[in-house]
Amino acid sequence: MSDTNRLTQAELRNTVRDLIDRWRSEARYQPRSDSWLRSLDVEFSKELASRGLIGMTWPRDYGGGEYTNTDRMAVTEELLRAGAPVAAHWIADRQIGPAILRYGTQELREEILPGIVSADYLFCLGMSEPEAGSDLAAVRTTATPVDGGWMLKGRKIWTTGAHRASHAYVLARTSSGERKHQGLSELIVDMDAEGVLVSPILDMAGEHHFNELVFEDVFVPRGRLLGEEGNGWRQVVEQLSFERGGPERVLSTYPLLVEILGNSDVIRHRRGEDELGEFVARLASLRSMAFDVAAQLDRGEAPVQEAATLKYLGNVFERDVVEYGRRILGPGGQGSAYGQALLASPGFSLRGGAADVLLSIIVRQEASKDARVASPMAADKELTDLAQSLSELNFDQRWQQIRELGLVGIGVDEQDGGSGGTVDDLASLVAEFGTRGVSSPLIEASVGYSVLAECGRLDLLPDESDYATVAFGSSDELTAPCAGSASLVLLVDDQGEVAVVGSGSGEAKIEHDTNVAGESYDRVTVTDRGDLVRLGRVDVADVRARQALLWSAALCGALDGTYDLTRGYVSTREQFGAPLLKIPAVAAHLATMKTQALLARTAFDRAAAAYRRAGASPAERLGAAAVARITASAAADETTRIAHQLHGAIGTTAEYDLHRFTLRLWAWRDTDLPAREWAALLGDRALTGGEQSVWASLTAGETQAADVDVV
Ligand SMILES: Cc1cc2nc3c(=O)[nH]c(=O)nc-3n(C[C@H](O)[C@H](O)[C@H](O)COP(=O)(O)OP(=O)(O)OC[C@H]3O[C@@H](n4cnc5c(N)ncnc54)[C@H](O)[C@@H]3O)c2cc1C
Repeated sequence: MSDTNRLTQAELRNTVRDLIDRWRSEARYQPRSDSWLRSLDVEFSKELASRGLIGMTWPRDYGGGEYTNTDRMAVTEELLRAGAPVAAHWIADRQIGPAILRYGTQELREEILPGIVSADYLFCLGMSEPEAGSDLAAVRTTATPVDGGWMLKGRKIWTTGAHRASHAYVLARTSSGERKHQGLSELIVDMDAEGVLVSPILDMAGEHHFNELVFEDVFVPRGRLLGEEGNGWRQVVEQLSFERGGPERVLSTYPLLVEILGNSDVIRHRRGEDELGEFVARLASLRSMAFDVAAQLDRGEAPVQEAATLKYLGNVFERDVVEYGRRILGPGGQGSAYGQALLASPGFSLRGGAADVLLSIIVRQEASKDARVASPMAADKELTDLAQSLSELNFDQRWQQIRELGLVGIGVDEQDGGSGGTVDDLASLVAEFGTRGVSSPLIEASVGYSVLAECGRLDLLPDESDYATVAFGSSDELTAPCAGSASLVLLVDDQGEVAVVGSGSGEAKIEHDTNVAGESYDRVTVTDRGDLVRLGRVDVADVRARQALLWSAALCGALDGTYDLTRGYVSTREQFGAPLLKIPAVAAHLATMKTQALLARTAFDRAAAAYRRAGASPAERLGAAAVARITASAAADETTRIAHQLHGAIGTTAEYDLHRFTLRLWAWRDTDLPAREWAALLGDRALTGGEQSVWASLTAGETQAADVDVV
């Protein structure tokens, strides 16, 4: 299919929205949480099919649209947003089709895929068995070779949608190998074949979505094998990336969030803007992670660790949304938005793999990597080497070198008096410092430098050792790192008006103070604003976005550094006759740390992309930077707690390195603006702009389907 025949992501979103609007106006469905599993309407799936929205990524030869996985995500997330009745085609579209494409014979592809694309074939997933839950490789269902195929015998359980399915995907044992992971094969079975029995299992809400599935000597023709006989385990692990890494792991409860946002008066009354802002930030970061997984699938990768991370963190998020719904909406009946989400919620962290098992997958994936990984944010080796050599100096020497090398001017064009390079370069550098647990006033000084450059007043820093720091706000009591030792303190008020005070001058009193890491964090008391020298005006949202982005980078670096140190420690420290890492609870803690670092990094990447995007407004950049700051701060909370727990007493000493990271993580969470204030800013925007603006912010920069202000 040529590009011109494909819809843009904006057009795809609008196509879905039009269909949803029509069905809603005709009262043909009610939005609900967990609709991809519980809300099945073949007519709706057929409507999507007629618009080319099933099998979107598959080749045209099989009825597909040759779209990318990120295009497909534009469609699936719009459907989840609307809580639409999509269960009929969801499993086949998400994972069975891709598995058949990758491993099915030509005949099988031609036979099955067009039927999925048209929503005539509905699939169920026959993996779990009474004796094979988390330990999926323990499946006992056997497929014994017979003339022309196999004879299938066994029981599957928890099989969602089996009572409506035309076909089943079945994981069965075709031979017994030395290890239980050997001898497994994947088969496609007709549900109307002789010997297939389906009986309903009602869930705790009395709903019927899953079933027990019994195969009593069911003949399966040879052509129904996926891939190699006996290679089923490796194939199924790949398939689980599709199953775990989709936006439904984050957006199952979105309809409840919509209800919550509709109660803005309750949230405002309780001064709950910051709590809401934290949810918006988590949603944005996780949704970005789902987008990254889709992009990795587009590159032909199998993002096993990322998909497991997304599912693990997404499940925690969804559980928290349900609890938030209880607090804002109050208790409701089984049919209420809250009740529906609550009753579905125990399944969130089970289906597709229990949460604890996902953590062990994350640990295993880590074990296959190098023990010490360089900061993933490092742009190039030159920067890494520079950061390394600067980190070996003491604070004063390092700061002197930073200024002499002109690093403070990175991110400001040379023609404007800067050192060239980009804000990304600067972010890489501060992240590298964070990875090594060292401090410097580079962030504040570079922000001060960029403010002066924008005002055309770099002449105020005549000497290479001069630098400016910045205090934000219109109140008279402000804080600014290194204000006491800086050559200039710039005051940027809420309107972006820039004024300057020299240290020790009469218009402001500067008192030395420190943050919890012992870093300079001075108090600036403005005694007379009228006497201040005014330099010009800057876009305060843009300046704060730059500062928040850089602090997020520093936090991400320190999160990586803490993780590396902790991983090294639990890998070598022995108790009970083995390294601590061998204890499952310790490994799970370590995996949780990893998920936090990955999420913070995802949010940073999203904010960095917004910052460098030419068309992004300052408000949009600030929103994305706020998400990154909130996410990194939350990761710092969890990471410091776990790191100290896993290190035991040694971690609390001055002698051991851990404090170099944890003290900074504690301090940097609140350095430019306390994390709660960043959250309140996002929450306030969400309440003012409503659900539409929240949604627009999630996808900003990818596509804009409608003319909506971005949170
Ligand atoms: C709503 C819903 C829909 C589902 N749909 C399908 C479907 O369509 N097809 C299908 O095949 N299956 C389906 N399942 C089944 C699902 O995949 C299993 O529930 C899941 O794999 C866990 O297996 P189990 O329930 O037997 O729990 P068990 O394996 O018995 O485990 C119970 C608990 O023990 C702990 N645990 C187990 N192993 C470990 C470990 N190694 N480390 C740490 N802790 C561990 C975990 O806390 C786990 O939750 C569905 C489940 C639900 C809830």
